[in-house]
Amino acid sequence: MRCSDFQELLDLYMDGDLPEEMRARLERHLLRCAECAFQARTLEQTRAHLRAAYPHPEPPPAFREKMAARLQDAFQDWLRREPEPNAAQWSLPFLLSERFPQETP
Ligand SMILES: [Zn+2]
Repeated sequence: MRCSDFQELLDLYMDGDLPEEMRARLERHLLRCAECAFQARTLEQTRAHLRAAYPHPEPPPAFREKMAARLQDAFQDWLRREPEPNAAQWSLPFLLSERFPQETP
């Protein structure tokens, strides 16, 4: 991977959204590469400024409960629906392999 590849991952890294292996790889790179470490520090500071300038508004009390109730209402038909008797539960890989048959050399 090149420095530009690592730098594109910094946002995901700071959000904690990188898979473990990538995170470890990026952290090793940041220890060795001054340029990427500088980019990471700059991005971290920018994000801190943005958080300070635009704090997340606190949701009103009971917001979570209201939203949960609305979601429950919206999806109750779907939640109540019985699974179709003959529906293959793991059909996706088979559908994919039908659509994209493996090429034979
Ligand atoms: Zn680098």
